[in-house]
Formats: sequence, C-alpha cells, structure tokens
Amino acid sequence: MVVGIHEELAARLPADRIQTDRDVIDAYRQDRAVFEGAGSAAILVHPRSTAEVVAVLEAANAADVPVVPRGAGTGLTGAANAIDGCVMISLHRMDQILEIDTTNRMARLQPGVINSNLKDAVAAVGLFYPPDPASFDMSSIGGNVATNAGGLCCVKYGVTRDYIIGLEVVLASGEVMRTGRRTLKSTTGLDLTGLFVGSEGVLGIITEITVKLVPAPPDPATAVAYFAELGAAGNAIAEVFRRGHEPSMMEIIDQECLRRIDEAFHMELDTDAACLLLIQSEGERSSERIAEMASICKEHGATFVYHVDDPDEGAMLIEVRRKAWPAWEQLGKALLPEDVAVPRERLAELLAGITEIGERHRVQLPTIGHAGDGNIHPLLVFDGNDPDETARAKAAFADIVALALGLGGTIAGEHGVGTLKRPFLEDELDPIQLAVQRRIRDALDPHGRLNPGKAL
Ligand SMILES: Cc1cc2nc3c(=O)[nH]c(=O)nc-3n(C[C@H](O)[C@H](O)[C@H](O)COP(=O)(O)OP(=O)(O)OC[C@H]3O[C@@H](n4cnc5c(N)ncnc54)[C@H](O)[C@@H]3O)c2cc1C
Repeated sequence: MVVGIHEELAARLPADRIQTDRDVIDAYRQDRAVFEGAGSAAILVHPRSTAEVVAVLEAANAADVPVVPRGAGTGLTGAANAIDGCVMISLHRMDQILEIDTTNRMARLQPGVINSNLKDAVAAVGLFYPPDPASFDMSSIGGNVATNAGGLCCVKYGVTRDYIIGLEVVLASGEVMRTGRRTLKSTTGLDLTGLFVGSEGVLGIITEITVKLVPAPPDPATAVAYFAELGAAGNAIAEVFRRGHEPSMMEIIDQECLRRIDEAFHMELDTDAACLLLIQSEGERSSERIAEMASICKEHGATFVYHVDDPDEGAMLIEVRRKAWPAWEQLGKALLPEDVAVPRERLAELLAGITEIGERHRVQLPTIGHAGDGNIHPLLVFDGNDPDETARAKAAFADIVALALGLGGTIAGEHGVGTLKRPFLEDELDPIQLAVQRRIRDALDPHGRLNPGKAL
C-alpha cells in the first residue's frame, strides 16, 4: 500500500512536496493531545496550491488510503493525529494572505496563515480579526476554522464561526467547491460555509478562507480582582452580565495555577487568593465601565481590586493569563486540558464541582478559563508513567464532562472533539442529530477517506 500511494503522489506532484523520511513523517504524526493514540502515516505531503491538494485527493482515492489534514498541530484533542497508512497532508506551506479589502472589510487567505500574522497584517490597515485562541502565535487559520476556535476576546466578539464568510474546499472526491459570498450579505442557498466551520477535517480540506474584519478597537481598560472563594467570583461574573456590561475579556485563574505561575515566573501574585479574575472593557465609556465591573467584584467579596486605563499596564496585568500553560509545561509532567462550558449562571457550581472532583480522585487539577463565556479549562497534571495516577486523572476527566452536562453545558467549548471527546458525543447529542450529522459526512465522503475516526 505504501508503494502504491508513493507512486500515485509522485505521478501528480513536484518531488519537493513529498516527504518520505520516516523521522520527519513521525514528527508530524501527533498534535498536542499527547495521550491520544496516533498511528503511523505512510507519507507526508505539503502542497502549495489548491490544484496540488486536488492531486493529493486523487492519489489517495487511486491508492485507497485515508487522508489526514493538518494545520500547525496545536490541537488538543488528537483531531490531527495520523491514522496508520494515511497520507498526512500538512497545509503549513499554503501561508499566503491573498487579499485585504478595506472597503468591504474582508480578507482572503490560504489556510496555513498563522493567526497572529493575519492579525498583524490587517492591523497595519486599521482593521481587526478578533478570534484569538491563546495559541494565536502558532495555530493556523485553517486549523482555527476546522476547530471553530475560540479565545480570550470571544466573550465580546464571538468565535471563529462568526468571522468566516466564505471558503474554498477540496472534497473527498477531489472536486473543488466554493461556498459563501463576497458581498456583505446574501440569502442564496443553504449555509455550507457554516457546515465546514468546526468540521475537523472530516468533510473536506479547506484551501482558501474569506474572513470578515472589523475596525480596530480602541485600547482597553483593565481590572484585576482577587477572591477568597471561587463561588464568589462565579457570582460576580454572572452579575456583571446581569447589569448589562459587555467585557471584551474575562478570564479566571485559580489558586493552584496562580502558585505555579508565580513559582515559574516570579510575578508577585497573591498566592493565598482562591482565584484571580482578569477583566477588560473597550469602546465607549470603557474607563467608567471597568470601574463599575470592579465595584461589582468588590460587592461580591473580592479581597483586592485594581483597575487601570493605561493599555501598557493593562497588557502587563493580563500577561499572567498567557503564562499559565508555559508554567505547567515547565514541570515536564503529563497535561490533559479539559474544555467544558456551562451557562454563565452555573459557573460557580462548575468551579465548586471541579474542586471536589480533584480532591476525590486525588489529582492535581488547576483551573484557568474564559470565565465570561462559562468555558473552563481544568488542567489535569499527572505522571503519565504512573498507571494508577493516569487512571485517576482519566476518571476525573470523565467526571468533569458529566458535571458540565449535568449543569446544562457542553463537552467541548472550543477545542473540538477529535478522538479525545468522541466517547462522550452521545452524552450530548441526541441520536437523531448525531445520525443526521453522520449522514451528511457520508454523503460528502462515502468512502470515509477524510480523517476517519475523528469528530463524529
Ligand atoms: C498553548 C495552547 C493554547 C491554546 N489555546 C486555545 C484557545 O484559547 N482557544 C482554542 O479554541 N484553542 C486553543 N488551543 C487549541 C488549538 O490551538 C486550536 O484548536 C487551533 O485552532 C488548532 O489549529 P492548528 O492549526 O494547530 O490545527 P491542527 O491541530 O493541525 O488541526 C486541528 C484540526 O483541524 C483540521 N484541519 C487543519 N487544517 C485544516 C484544513 N486546511 N482543512 C481541513 N481541516 C483542517 C485537522 O484535521 C484537525 O482536525 C490551544 C492550544 C495550545 C497548545
């Protein structure tokens, strides 16, 4: 089979697009979900154009092998992991911004463009591409679209889905389909663009993306608030929204995480506090609004509150949030990030439940999250070489999923399903919906060519 696919690809692609070196192929076999199994790809290709992606699909169909698309491999669910004998198609060389249209406020780009590069390019002409996963300086827009990535400013601006207005997709058959529009509005036909957002590479390979842009926002005002109890922070968050505020960022970091960040980066944090809430507000009356949100925190028992208008000082205050993942990575232990979301008013219960689960399973369970979205990332930190500790971490993982569902939440707030969350799909989606989703996949990919075993 390996020889077959190699010959089929060699007949259709320039030689430098094909990688047969085993070490290089293996370097691409896994995303960041280290505990999800990854197979061994037969071959790795890195096309430079839509026509070359079509050629890869034609070769895979001729040789009858599966195809796994990959962006930057920063995914946290195993969605881009290799399947035995597959063609791994890495889109990282399709990294051109093709057009920035300041009149209609949109940009057209290839899928391998890194999120921060798009942000910088549009900022240079006074525009803003809001979706900002914490991985924004390493993840690709193609991967962001395929996972419907969220991020820190979703609480005000929404997720990737809200900014995708058109796609070019190579289907499993090798046909090239264009979806969406170039106008600001359109009511023609079904929304196939939306269908592909969050489809995790199982419906087609995205080769071009048209994104909506907005005017660059004014500098934000920033507040930080420490709380002695997680529940009090949860109640303050809900109250901020009840009183009509629209923060542009609202993040939470719990005590265990504060301690780790402080230990790693010496940031003089209050490590006795139960948690730290970080809030930003931008636009009209941002200074007054941040003061009002800070008062709400105080009313709900915050032990220390501070707010600033100065954007540089604000950026320094929120830097602590971006340090969380690197601080835990420094330990060299296994990290298994959760990604559940609940309605905002249930956040206090979710946070209390997570603490209880950590204690019951005796696992280290620091928590950070996009508190304003109700989207929380408890991080299971454990010794992956210790079978007992690993089993306890996985049991805690499943209990957090069940807790979130019991609170009316979702198993996957922004990271997608991949293989990690696939065992829980039926706990969230009703059987009819799941069957319809699978029928759509089968209609587009009757031979199960694209990323089989992932997402659905
Ligand atoms: C430190 C860190 C912080 C993170 N923070 C966030 C966060 O705040 N919010 C968030 O949402 N996520 C976050 N993530 C997860 C991850 O960065 C996102 O899921 C991201 O969107 C993945 O992009 P990628 O380019 O790395 O895609 P990959 O991991 O390579 O692939 C992800 C999925 O997309 C598919 N895919 C990739 N490109 C294409 C394409 N062109 N066509 C079709 N399918 C494709 C793959 O098959 C796979 O199913 C974080 C990850 C890390 C490591």
